Amino acid sequence: MAGKIPQQFIDDLLGRVDIVDVIEADIPLKKAGKDFQALCPFHGEKTPSFTVSQEKQFYHCFGCGAHGSALGFVMNYRGLNFVEAVEELANLVGLEMPSREGELINTPDYSPLYSALEAAQAFFIQQLRSHPQKQRVVDYLKARGLTGQ
Ligand code: ZN
Repeated sequence: MAGKIPQQFIDDLLGRVDIVDVIEADIPLKKAGKDFQALCPFHGEKTPSFTVSQEKQFYHCFGCGAHGSALGFVMNYRGLNFVEAVEELANLVGLEMPSREGELINTPDYSPLYSALEAAQAFFIQQLRSHPQKQRVVDYLKARGLTGQ
């Protein structure tokens, strides 16, 4: 999916976004030297081990190891997928997304795979009911905790 948004756009976006603004919109940051600190939003703690480097444009938690760019933070903290996170940051800095559905999220056509899986499923069901040695498999499945249902 990452490949569907031009790398140039992502570079441009990350060049305009300031990770401090992005994170500060969600959690309060305190200046500490040239970095910023906060209580880590990814694990419970009483003393801040979450640092944000404005210079390097990444966050890092010394407590739980959470680490990433502004894009990674938006994905992890707000639970967004890559494309949604790119969109959110693009909105923040007023960048137009390169294109909408179709070009941007060019989902491959999986329907031949689904028909193949359905055919396989039908075959297995049929074998489970009619194969001469079906009882061995049924016993095995019961031993693994599967019910008839
Ligand atoms: Zn942490």
